[in-house]
Amino acid sequence: MERAGVDVLLVSVGSDLPYLTGYEAMPLERLTMLVVPRDGEVTLVIPALEAPRVMEQPGVFTLRPWGELDDPVALVAGLLPSPQVAAVGDTMWARFLVELLGHWPSSATQYVRSTTVMNDLRMRKDDAEIAALQAAGAAIDRVAAQLHAGEVPLVGRTEAQVSADLSRRILAEGHQSVNFAIVAAGENAASPHHHAGSRVIREGELVLCDIGGTMDGYCSDITRCVHTGPVSAEIAEAYAVLHAAHAAGVAAGVVGAACQDVDRAARKVIADAGFGEYFIHRTGHGIGMEAHEDPYMVEGNTLPLAAGHAFSVEPGIYLPGRWGMRLEDIVVATDDGPLSMNFVDHSLVVVN
Ligand code: ZN
Ligand code: ZN
Ligand code: ZN
Repeated sequence: MERAGVDVLLVSVGSDLPYLTGYEAMPLERLTMLVVPRDGEVTLVIPALEAPRVMEQPGVFTLRPWGELDDPVALVAGLLPSPQVAAVGDTMWARFLVELLGHWPSSATQYVRSTTVMNDLRMRKDDAEIAALQAAGAAIDRVAAQLHAGEVPLVGRTEAQVSADLSRRILAEGHQSVNFAIVAAGENAASPHHHAGSRVIREGELVLCDIGGTMDGYCSDITRCVHTGPVSAEIAEAYAVLHAAHAAGVAAGVVGAACQDVDRAARKVIADAGFGEYFIHRTGHGIGMEAHEDPYMVEGNTLPLAAGHAFSVEPGIYLPGRWGMRLEDIVVATDDGPLSMNFVDHSLVVVN
C-alpha cells in the first residue's frame, strides 16, 4: 500500500476478502467490508447476523458488527479520516461506492482499483496455493478421463443433459461448486462459450467440453474435445494444428517471458496453418481463487511471467456454422519451467 500510495484498502464481496481473511462474504445487499488503513487497525465491518460465521483474528483484524438499523457505509467512513487515496475492490457493489462518495467525495479522495495493491499477491501462487490448484486439476482430470473412457453417454442426449451429467461428476470428484460445464456439439462448438442447450448430440461429430469448478477455494478449468464416431480428415488435420499450438503455448510459459509471448507462440502455429482468422480469443487467463483473473495471456500484455503465475493455455479454432475445437490445460510458471496441472490425454478421442 505504501508503494502504491494507497491510504486505505476497502475489500467487500469477491475473492480478495477470503484471500486476506479466510472469510468469504455472501454476495448480498448487507455490507461486509474489510477496512485496511495503511497505518492502524484492520476492521471487518460485518452484518451482525453474519458475525457468528467469522473468527476474529486478533492482530490481523477485529470485527465491527452492525445492526439492521445502522448505516454501515457511515460506519466505514467513520473509522478513519477522509483518505487521499482509497483502493476499492473490483466487485464491491456500486451502491456501496455511490454511498461512500457521499462521505468521502471524489473531490478529496482519489479512488483506485484494489488491484494496485492486491494483484502482485494474488497472481503469485505460493506452494499451498499451487498444491490446491494441483488437487483441483487432478479432480477435473478424473472427470475428463471419464469422458474419454466413454463413461459419459453422448449420442442421443442433449447438450444440457450431458452438461448436467458432467456437473454431477465435477462435484462427485471433490469440487464444492461447478463454475461451468460447457457442452457444445457440432456447429455449436464454433461458439466458444456456447450455452449447453436442447440440441441432441448425433453420431459422427465433435463435442467440445469445457468444465471447471472450485475445490477448497481454488479453481479447475479444462477443455477436451471428443468425437462421436470416425473423424474426418479435415477435423483430424485441424486438431493436429490445435494440439501443436497448445504445446507451443505451454512451452512458452517460462519465467521471464511476457504473457503475450504465450499467446504469440500458440497463435503462430494456428496462423501458419492458415486458421489464424478462426482463433478468435486470447490464449489464456490467470486462475486461482477466481476462474478468470490476472494475468491474461493476450497480445499487449508485456507483464513478465514470474514463478507462481498460474494461467490457462487454451487455443481454439472455430469455423462458424460448421465446427469448433479448443484444447485447454492450466499451467503454473516455475523456476523449473512450465508445470501443468492437467495430465489427461490431449488427443481427439473417439467415443460412442
Ligand atoms: Zn475452460
Ligand atoms: Zn479457461
Ligand atoms: Zn499435448
